[in-house]
Amino acid sequence: MSSYLISNVSVVGAAPTDLLIRDGVVAAVGAGLTAPDATVLDGTGLVALPGLVDLHTHLREPGREDAETVESGSRAAALGGYTAVCAMANTSPVADTAGVVEQVWRLGREAGLVDVQPIGAVTVGLAGEHLAELGAMADSAARVRIFSDDGHCVADPRLMRRALEYVKAFDGIIAQHAEEPRLTEGAQMHEGEVSARLGLTGWPAVAEEAIIARDVLLTEHVGSRLHVCHVSTAGSVEVLRQAKARGIRVTAEVTPHHLLLTDSRAETYDPVYKVNPPLRTATDIAALRAALADGVIDIVATDHAPHAVEDKECEWAYARPGMLGLETALSIVLDVLGPQWDLIAERMSRAPARIAGLEGHGLDPAPGVPANLTLVDPAARRTIEPAELASRSRNTPYARMTLPGRIVATFLRGEPTVLDGKAVR
Ligand SMILES: [Zn+2]
Repeated sequence: MSSYLISNVSVVGAAPTDLLIRDGVVAAVGAGLTAPDATVLDGTGLVALPGLVDLHTHLREPGREDAETVESGSRAAALGGYTAVCAMANTSPVADTAGVVEQVWRLGREAGLVDVQPIGAVTVGLAGEHLAELGAMADSAARVRIFSDDGHCVADPRLMRRALEYVKAFDGIIAQHAEEPRLTEGAQMHEGEVSARLGLTGWPAVAEEAIIARDVLLTEHVGSRLHVCHVSTAGSVEVLRQAKARGIRVTAEVTPHHLLLTDSRAETYDPVYKVNPPLRTATDIAALRAALADGVIDIVATDHAPHAVEDKECEWAYARPGMLGLETALSIVLDVLGPQWDLIAERMSRAPARIAGLEGHGLDPAPGVPANLTLVDPAARRTIEPAELASRSRNTPYARMTLPGRIVATFLRGEPTVLDGKAVR
């Protein structure tokens, strides 16, 4: 295995030091390190973070390899500074059996660019009628611990209760896409002033808040664990704040796009801005940012949702919801939070690794720790060119925007997946 000496680098924002990576681990941290056999990387001006961990990625394989594959999505993730991603279950076939989750897990190992941890479906075929084989997926080689019908809400309260009861036995988590389906029938965007002006059917904030309120109470009743996907409204933040104050075991994520973009983007009728849950208001964004800072929202997750051109470049009403996220997430969070490196490491690496139980991830670079880390140049600015992204899809809402921060290198167990800002393979 190769050795790397990263000189004069700031570890999570601290004063510059040297980092020696050898045999897959961080071998030493300290000023004035020497290692004649190691490749030296000049870390001046760079910040080393624990490798980022995404709890919410759509890799599209099996089934929609034209939009993304496990390999292309893994490469996009590595370029975004990630060393582990959790792959959502809404593939084709759905990841609702041990066979499919093991297939995704194996494809991730073969690609070898990030650790791919499959999420299993809660219900068979995401149909919301019968519980999937949660135990078989948990016992499989993929060792699934998080289950989600993401893309769909587990709307039936009895089924949600049974799912929470089932996973309690092995301390598993149900990750809910909170959307009361009867309140969002035909919805095209956030329900508010802009939707009224444009004459588009609205997706009301209460459709999310009502499900979160129900689910935190069910979680308390069962004594299980709940994770809330892509929280998007100020009201949801208040429900979560109360639930956490009561000691309910709930965690929550927010996406980069819900921290930055408002529903006014729909005025362009450009379907690149169509996403589920929809972009909300400036008031919601302010509440989400505050919740991310104070911990009511635990993590940033990308909801990276690649779509083929024909599914996205069409009329707004027919376009599939979703946006790319992996290659731009850190830049958006840096833009939103500023250089609060400890907070960024917590929300984008440590906490998601803890929630998902990913061993060897989410650990600050220190002697003996697996060398899963990323190097960021916070002073760099880059203009997003969709054609240059590693994802197979092009549906980024940040096209031609200039964003702060650049991922210079990413290491997975001591081997570089990204060097000089480019994928190694
Ligand atoms: Zn979702």
